[in-house]
Formats: sequence, C-alpha cells, structure tokens
Amino acid sequence: MNILNVGYTSTNYYVLADAKPRLLIDVGFAGTLPKLQHELKRMGVQLAGIKHLLATHYHPDHAGLAAELQGMGIKLIVVDVQQEAIAAVQDDLKLAKQYVGFDKNAAVMITLDESRAFLATLGIHGEIIATPGHSNDSISLILDTGEAFTGDLTHPMMAGEGESGEVIKQSWDAIRAHGAKSSYPGHGPVYALK
Ligand SMILES: [Zn+2]
Repeated sequence: MNILNVGYTSTNYYVLADAKPRLLIDVGFAGTLPKLQHELKRMGVQLAGIKHLLATHYHPDHAGLAAELQGMGIKLIVVDVQQEAIAAVQDDLKLAKQYVGFDKNAAVMITLDESRAFLATLGIHGEIIATPGHSNDSISLILDTGEAFTGDLTHPMMAGEGESGEVIKQSWDAIRAHGAKSSYPGHGPVYALK
C-alpha cells in the first residue's frame, strides 16, 4: 500500500492507495477544499476516486471538511468511540461552524471490533484501535505492515507527562502491541517506534 501525504497548513493528511486510492485519513478545516484538491492533484490522486474518509479525531484540523466531502459522495467512517465527540461538536454552535455539520446517513458506522473486517472490504489489511490521550475520541489505524496513523497522540518520548500521561502511555503500548513499527502523525514527520 502506498502512503501519500496530501497535507497542508501544517497538518498531515494521508491517502492509502494501491492501483487506486483506498482511504483518506484526516482532512483539514472547513473551507480548505481547494487546498486539498491542489495537494491531491500534486500527488496524482483523483478526489473522485476516493470513496472513504477516516478521521483520527474530531478536531477541526482533522475533520473540518468531513461534511463537505460527504456532500461529494465520500463515505465518512465513524467508529463507535467517536460518536459522542461528533454529537458534542454538533451541539456546540461555535464548533459546528468549523465543521459545517455532519451527515449521519452518509456515514458508515463501525465498531472497533468490526474494523479489521471492514477495512478488508476496502482492500486494506489492518485494524483501528482506540488511542485516547490527546482526546477521548482519538483512534489509530495500524496496518499489518507496521505503519500506524496516530493523529495527534502525544509523541511517545513525551508520554507519561502531564494530566493524561498514563492514558497516553497505554495508548502507545496498545499501538506497539498491534505490531506498529512507525508512526505517521497528524503533525510533523514520520518516526520509527522503538
Ligand atoms: Zn487534535
């Protein structure tokens, strides 16, 4: 599986692709569709070819465009542990503006347990696990080949510090237990996991 970084404005957005794009992981602020289109074009990816979007968590720099992409026919994959966060966004008028809403009918609801089987239908071999610490709704996608998409989970070197230190450490333990060898974060460069 090829991993393409189509990020902009200091956030990484990843496209998993083989002969065709399989999944978009995270997407930028509401109103930044032209930037996304520009980056996709630069990387040789057709937006129309992307059928599924997964957000590592529902902060506006990771899911802001979700509703707009849903309007274009892309299926938003929502994991059970994320439903509450989406509801919270929608109930918050200030936040709701940054997301432009969210269409439940155009979403694919899955549980963490179902993630492996669901991803297989997209041609992706891996699993989605809950990795709280940065936010309660944070998830990570771990490919069987060892790449982990970890969103904004605090770098493992900094884990253990601060209020949610223990939670962050547990999330990294879980990521490693699933065979991850490298982290593809929401911000900054890819790094090896030891
Ligand atoms: Zn965040």
